[in-house]
Amino acid sequence: MNTFDDELAELHRRRAKIHASFYAKVAAAKEECDAQLAAVDSELALWADADQSIPCLVRRTPGPDHTVYHSYDAPCGRVRDRSNFEVVQEVLAAQTGDYHYELRRCSACGWQEAAAIHARRIADSVAGDGTPQPHTETTGE
Ligand SMILES: [Zn+2]
Repeated sequence: MNTFDDELAELHRRRAKIHASFYAKVAAAKEECDAQLAAVDSELALWADADQSIPCLVRRTPGPDHTVYHSYDAPCGRVRDRSNFEVVQEVLAAQTGDYHYELRRCSACGWQEAAAIHARRIADSVAGDGTPQPHTETTGE
């Protein structure tokens, strides 16, 4: 025989169960969404990396650092004063004409992180028709 308190307690349990079920579904949907976004971001980063439009820092002042260019978005500790560097797309950084040899990527910079940041920048600048817009950023800080 149910008392009023038992019925009330049962209603509270049912409400709690509905809430718990809802939040579990939301958490599962968020996890699925995050996984799908991470997969797309990963593809975007690969694309941005291959595109060679990643912004890079090329030293324009005398220094010991003339065999490499650095990442603009994830520079290593050798980039202390950005005013000593010119910001150029990677395709141009590698072919910079001031030297007798091609520059290469600095191995200490965070190129994976830079590719991810650049991919997001490109994704944010994609036009409504899906056409990527030219990357026009040319100045450092
Ligand atoms: Zn570096």
